[in-house]
Amino acid sequence: MQRRLRSASMKKTRVRVPSGTVMRFRRKKPNYMQCGSCGAKMVRKRLRQSGVAKLSKIGKRPERPLPHLCPGCMREQMKMRARGL
Ligand SMILES: [Zn+2]
Repeated sequence: MQRRLRSASMKKTRVRVPSGTVMRFRRKKPNYMQCGSCGAKMVRKRLRQSGVAKLSKIGKRPERPLPHLCPGCMREQMKMRARGL
């Protein structure tokens, strides 16, 4: 098997063809981004590199602190930091 097909982002499927069964590979569809703390589903799906290239400069970078957390968890985290816990 080619090295690039062994990636976790590739999905392996069996396809029946006249000569028997063959393996076919395709890229997995991107899933929703998840909160790093509670695992809640975020608004946007993960982007492929081609999708990132189409975004504006402001769309690429986070506009609020702790972008890996959902809004609720971010608020809690900011409170904890302000209180020095
Ligand atoms: Zn969360």
